[in-house]
Amino acid sequence: MSPASASASASSSGTPTAAQRFLRDAAVKSADLVHREIIRKNMESYDAAHLKGRARFQDWEAARRRCQEIKREAVNHLDRYLLQFEEKVTARGGRVFWAEDAGQACAYICDLAQRRGVKTVVKSKSMVTEEIELSHALEKLGIKAWETDLGEYIVQLRHEPPYHIVTPAMHLNRTQIGDLFRQELEPNLSDDPVELMAAARRKLRQAFFAAEMGISGANFIVADVGAIALSTNEGNGRLTTSLPRIHVAVTGIEKVIPRLEDLATLWPVLATSGTGQPITTYSTLIGGPRRPGEADGPEEFHVVLVDNGRSRLLANVEEREVLHCIRCGACLNICPVYRHVGGHTYGTIYGGPIGSVLTPQLRGKDFAHLSSASSLCGACTSVCPVRINLHHHLLHNRRDFVKAGSAKFGERMMFRMWSAAMRRPWLYSAGGALARLALRTLYALGLTGSPLDPMRAWNRQRAPVPLPRKSFRALWEKQKQKETRS
Ligand code: SF4
Repeated sequence: MSPASASASASSSGTPTAAQRFLRDAAVKSADLVHREIIRKNMESYDAAHLKGRARFQDWEAARRRCQEIKREAVNHLDRYLLQFEEKVTARGGRVFWAEDAGQACAYICDLAQRRGVKTVVKSKSMVTEEIELSHALEKLGIKAWETDLGEYIVQLRHEPPYHIVTPAMHLNRTQIGDLFRQELEPNLSDDPVELMAAARRKLRQAFFAAEMGISGANFIVADVGAIALSTNEGNGRLTTSLPRIHVAVTGIEKVIPRLEDLATLWPVLATSGTGQPITTYSTLIGGPRRPGEADGPEEFHVVLVDNGRSRLLANVEEREVLHCIRCGACLNICPVYRHVGGHTYGTIYGGPIGSVLTPQLRGKDFAHLSSASSLCGACTSVCPVRINLHHHLLHNRRDFVKAGSAKFGERMMFRMWSAAMRRPWLYSAGGALARLALRTLYALGLTGSPLDPMRAWNRQRAPVPLPRKSFRALWEKQKQKETRS
């Protein structure tokens, strides 16, 4: 995305558009050295764990292919598998609600909470509840919603959305978290992670005992047995789903898988891609409310199946495989753009490559710019455990938005000129030589970083790029001649 196109799309009210906010925040974050150091450290430890985790598989590529097949089968027969799931849950005394959009999903849960006199809700980590902004809807009714995943709890205390789909507080170090907890929880805490965690636990325990309703997501919904499958590491998921008298699971319709046995591949692949673990600490299956004679579990079990634009994506055969995503976060972790601009810059719950593909599809052309937030290096595609061709989908989105007339006049002209030059080698060479000469003259006059400098965004924050005297084509020719002579 060019800055020109972002500014051309400025709203007439003067409020920055999503594209302008992205450019502004990306410039700030990529120059924030503390942020970059925190992300570098976290990504390094993820990379090492991920590599080790993949080596545990006899054949990692075969596991990826199997996961791709499972998800393809599920998504291609979504209608059948979702109905099968509903039938099984209903037979066990659970209730399944089909929500067309965020409004319907929130209305169902809020109405249920009000009818049952709920005052406190505990939540385990769920990106879909973030997507539909459920906590805001509950809080508007005076119902307190506690995030109980530690990372989610930290960002909730900071009044921020999650930074990352797997590790919501990845952007913070222990000092920042210590400061936050001293201010919000107990003034005498040190920065020791064990002490900080214990303080959060003390606070959240009270919330668990007070809550009348627990809200979870679902990593998978298993059609043949009619159960939701949860992968968690902190134990908060089990407390959320078993302690309060009502359990509501909120999940996207695409999370369905055909068979229980599919989890044998999907669970370890998800854990490996998400955190590098062989399997998460808690793997839980829940298929209904507590039954007569059972010692624990909720009295009521509800599953809210959220569409919110997913059916539209399902109808688009070319893009449909985006629904295969199992939200492992691996594509975010490897993405050079995500690593530099950070999760909040995307301005949506789903960041990184999958967010850049999914958000324009779910939220429309205001987020078209995200399709350009990629170098198209393909690293995301190479790590995706369900083999989604992410960088191709980014290209498809770009194409579709240009066809729909989203590209601005300047951008269209620029690409027309580029296309004309690419088809005429003499024009390309002449243009390149002229551009190099103009830039060299500009820099010789000391105008680096000035408004005349087309590289000013780069040159203002980094050492200027030394301009080569010869083009790559000329150097390549020379190299070839050298090789022919020798
Ligand atoms: S697109 Fe693939 S790599 Fe990215 S979060 Fe989804 S499953 Fe993981």
